[in-house]
Amino acid sequence: MTHETIDARLTETVLDETLVYDGSLLKVRRMTVRLPDGRQAHRETIRHPGASAIVTLDADGRIVLERQWRAPAGGAFWEIPAGKIDPGEDPLETARRELIEEAGVSAARWTHLGTIHNAIGYSDEHIEIYLARDLTPCQQRLDENEFLTLVSVPMQEAFEMTRNGAITDVKTLIGLGWLRDYLDGSLSQAKEMA
Ligand SMILES: [Mg+2]
Repeated sequence: MTHETIDARLTETVLDETLVYDGSLLKVRRMTVRLPDGRQAHRETIRHPGASAIVTLDADGRIVLERQWRAPAGGAFWEIPAGKIDPGEDPLETARRELIEEAGVSAARWTHLGTIHNAIGYSDEHIEIYLARDLTPCQQRLDENEFLTLVSVPMQEAFEMTRNGAITDVKTLIGLGWLRDYLDGSLSQAKEMA
């Protein structure tokens, strides 16, 4: 289904944008927009640089998950490795770098599984999700303020964790679902990377 004619009737024009909070990770802005019917409204937005996330699959069919404390959500969560894209960095390079830094794994074979927009109601954040294979252990290099526990779980167990409530993190749910589709041969958007 095409969306161009639909979008033309939905477009909001930004009239003004004020920086309310200028953080090191997040920029909070208040936008004034003109609605399709000509009225004005305000939109609060969080600008985010974007991130890359990695589903690993080793030769034994196991997947690396991290357990990490997430202060905004007030608890610990199961997640696939991920990190934010540095200014000017190619998202695949982010993925390679984060997999080494967080999980102590380097990968020789990469597939782009897809892009998600995980918070479109209030943020432009997007996450590029990759599949990493042909894995080699290497030295983990966590950031000074980063604490996490790594586990390697059989693929079917990871899939079960997406169905029994153990995993609620959105990039992890989508990443594991797309891996299932990819292995089925039905993920038409997947792209093999160099
Ligand atoms: Mg991270």
